Amino acid sequence: MRYREIWKTYSKVFDITTLNVLEELKEDRFISEDLSVISEGKEAIVFRSGNRAVKIYKVMGVSYKGQLKYLEADPRIRSFPRTQIGIIYTWVKKEFKNLRRMFKSLVSVPAPYVYKKNVLVMEFIGDEEPAPVLHDIIDKIEDKERVFYDIIEEYKKIYNKAGLVHGDFSDYNLLYYRNKVYVIDVSQAIPSYSPAAFTYLEKDLENILNIANRMKVKIDRLELMRILNIL
Ligand code: ATP
Ligand code: MN
Repeated sequence: MRYREIWKTYSKVFDITTLNVLEELKEDRFISEDLSVISEGKEAIVFRSGNRAVKIYKVMGVSYKGQLKYLEADPRIRSFPRTQIGIIYTWVKKEFKNLRRMFKSLVSVPAPYVYKKNVLVMEFIGDEEPAPVLHDIIDKIEDKERVFYDIIEEYKKIYNKAGLVHGDFSDYNLLYYRNKVYVIDVSQAIPSYSPAAFTYLEKDLENILNIANRMKVKIDRLELMRILNIL
């Protein structure tokens, strides 16, 4: 569908500014004229535009109160307007910066291209079809142990090289494509020196142990922390 059609379809959640942003991104060749829906979530809808994925945050009909505490937990963010639109734009900027920081640290993430207001453009992972989320295909993976340790390697890079804690590192936020794992949905990640980092890390470790469980890999918390260089 052409982006104007898309915008009309979602005019209950996208404002006129969103349409203008898409227009500008098309002018600047970050996206093409055509978009198709990959996934519709509570806060954002992810589209495909050629070899790009376009994550557009809804600006209407959604509450971003929950995001406030995540923004406040991030010492890099000094002040931001505590309005609906202020929170959303700050959120997208945070997501882009996290993605760029991970990409530069050679974490397997979609390449970040640009962000503008409530729209983030990154590399599309997949071919004709978008790559599946790990959660949906985990049982079908043959070399589970190898993939599990690949996942650990990615977290190691996030923590030790990018200096971040992901905060939502579950099998729903990992894509699996051509035997390779991709980390997505990095908006809530915060620097590992943040006061709240420990809580984030705890959650991520718990999620990684759940993945290990599903992949029938034997590992305990202490061993995991040692491999991740946390201990
Ligand atoms: P949800 O509430 O649905 O989880 P979200 O806000 O968590 O949405 P993401 O996890 O970033 O958003 O993306 C939602 C879905 O869009 C992913 O599960 C994945 O299927 C798809 N997706 C996101 N980014 C890409 C990408 N770069 N390439 C291919 N598919 C992607
Ligand atoms: Mn997600």
